[in-house]
Amino acid sequence: MIDPLTLPKAELHLHIEGTLEPELMFELARRNGVSLPYADTDAVRRAYRFGNLQSFLDVYYRACSVLIHERDFYELTIAYLNRARAQGVRHVEVFFDPQTHIQRGVRFDAVVGGIGRALTEARGQGVTSQLIMCFLRDLPADDAMATLEQSLAHRDVIFGVGLDSAEVGNPPRKFREVFERAVSAGFRAVAHAGEEGPPDYIWQALDLLGAERIDHGVRCLEDRSLVRRLEADRIPLTVCPFSNVKLRVVETWERSSSTRWRTCSSTDCASRSTPMIPPTSAVTSARTSPTWQEPCASTTARSSSSLATASKRRSWMTPPGPAT
Ligand SMILES: [Zn+2]
Repeated sequence: MIDPLTLPKAELHLHIEGTLEPELMFELARRNGVSLPYADTDAVRRAYRFGNLQSFLDVYYRACSVLIHERDFYELTIAYLNRARAQGVRHVEVFFDPQTHIQRGVRFDAVVGGIGRALTEARGQGVTSQLIMCFLRDLPADDAMATLEQSLAHRDVIFGVGLDSAEVGNPPRKFREVFERAVSAGFRAVAHAGEEGPPDYIWQALDLLGAERIDHGVRCLEDRSLVRRLEADRIPLTVCPFSNVKLRVVETWERSSSTRWRTCSSTDCASRSTPMIPPTSAVTSARTSPTWQEPCASTTARSSSSLATASKRRSWMTPPGPAT
């Protein structure tokens, strides 16, 4: 068995706002004069017991209220990158949700500036990255389009667009024009689909949004023709088994369809989605994931799920520099 600690890893399904640890949450709340509905950090950790995706999102958005200034987003991101590097992560594709912040009056420039500055610094320390801007699917498409227009001034920092948040009742077709505009502007496209939503949402993400990768996608297993399509077009999935169990998408590990995943060539990485969902370690997540088998481990850092070029993926397999 390969030791996950020493294996170079690529983290491909990571929501940066979800990496906010309770200690930093309280520090930022103090600094920014934000009151939190938690007595202390232990109370925050107790709140991380979720009944479903929506109950998780309620805590997630409350935590985001402490992020206001460019410096806050920088500190959030650099704290995550330092932890990830210590866990052997060589490349990360980072989701962020600008609408969560813009609707609170935070400047788009502050969000992208802080995250982007941290990602640039980390490149100098051996962790490469790509930044993916997600649209909140429970907000109107017009709101997403307005956010996309703001992002065009940051094309040098933002690599791709995605779709996340409450899935059921918010099908990908709602964002067809937004994604058409994004792709024509040069963004790469991915989308969360088939986490809680039906397999049809995955079909829509592929056919209407032009998604090159499906994030989650676990419900594809309910539709044989969809699995064949994913395999034929070599569309990867970033499956997050821990997230699925913790958010009750599946009831148990045994029901996480691990056996079927091992026979499906469309999944080649085990991601953790949002580290506020325990476990908080990429290594622990990898070691205990039901999809974590040697054939999977050996391909993780050069995973075809990544939006990076093949030559860049090969470069991650070289020995990492010393951790700081
Ligand atoms: Zn996600």
